Amino acid sequence: MSSQIEIQRIEKSKIASVDFNNLPFGSVYSDHMLECNFKNGAWQTPVIKPFSPISLDPSSKIFHYGQSIFEGMKAYKDAENNTLLFRPLDNWKRLNKSAERLMIPQIPEEIFMEGLKALLKVDNDWIPTNEGSSLYIRPFMFATGSGFHASPANEYKFIIATAPSGAYFAGKVKVLIEEKYARAANGGVGYAKAGGNYAAQFYPTQLAMDKGYNQVIWTDDNTHQFIEEAGAMNIFIRINDTLITSPTSDRILDGITRKSILQIAEDAGIQTEVRKISVGEVVEAAKNGNLKEMFGAGTAAVISPIAGFGYQENDYELPVLENSFAAQLKKKITDIQTNKVADPYGWRI
Ligand code: PMP
Repeated sequence: MSSQIEIQRIEKSKIASVDFNNLPFGSVYSDHMLECNFKNGAWQTPVIKPFSPISLDPSSKIFHYGQSIFEGMKAYKDAENNTLLFRPLDNWKRLNKSAERLMIPQIPEEIFMEGLKALLKVDNDWIPTNEGSSLYIRPFMFATGSGFHASPANEYKFIIATAPSGAYFAGKVKVLIEEKYARAANGGVGYAKAGGNYAAQFYPTQLAMDKGYNQVIWTDDNTHQFIEEAGAMNIFIRINDTLITSPTSDRILDGITRKSILQIAEDAGIQTEVRKISVGEVVEAAKNGNLKEMFGAGTAAVISPIAGFGYQENDYELPVLENSFAAQLKKKITDIQTNKVADPYGWRI
């Protein structure tokens, strides 16, 4: 397969203009991207080419019907300069789950994996080595086929673009438990990484920001009584010494960080529960002092601790703990990701 990837190298690398000691998150792009087109019912030869604008027909269905999905993953360098990926096949599988739901063709494993590895080789120097930094990888697929009629396109583009990124630091996150809007509904597309899911989050998130919060905690669309996700992350809630996370469903993204954290926590002897957790239970626990921690889990920030939450005009603060589960688990997972410790799970490749 790798022999079938065409490589068009950039004439002059942009790398000298990048300050690797001051990297933002996800907004400086590496020299190359991988592009593969789907037409006449088949994926064409993947091409690694300079990261550059795409020209599309105004009638391309991506613009009208939102057939667009993506993934988010990271590559790291270890102390021996090896390039490491974390559970990349899970991203490939999830991209295809999203593709199925959005009527986008399945991307073969070889194009995804061999294409990604070849791209990382070509842009090897773009993978940051500083502590906490990584190469953020954005695989995405969208409809390029044209027509002002609401039906699936017959042509698509798969792209992998990358961005060397510093640690994603959200600071002290204050969240608002959502009582009106929902990011996903039963039978909908919440479990897919569809672009439209994120567009739909922006407005309620802005309303929360206007009230002084940083993020929204999504609740179920039907009753708004149960906690679902934390912005674009899965959520963990620690009541006393039990770590609880909501079960995945067709409304919740099956996060790779979430399932890794669950496994690591269990193996570290932390009691975990995957179950529905009501807003009432969280508020009650906050009132009686049993609510110890809340944090989001996702590829970008890995773990993002929540300092406090708002609900029905009241604000609740979380205690500041030494040796929190969040800190312990973040260290354990990032040590595995960056090859500082053995990986008993076979997640790192
Ligand atoms: N939920 C949503 C809605 C997300 O966008 C993400 C980020 N992909 C996650 C959860 C976390 O998933 P992962 O750990 O696979 O990055």
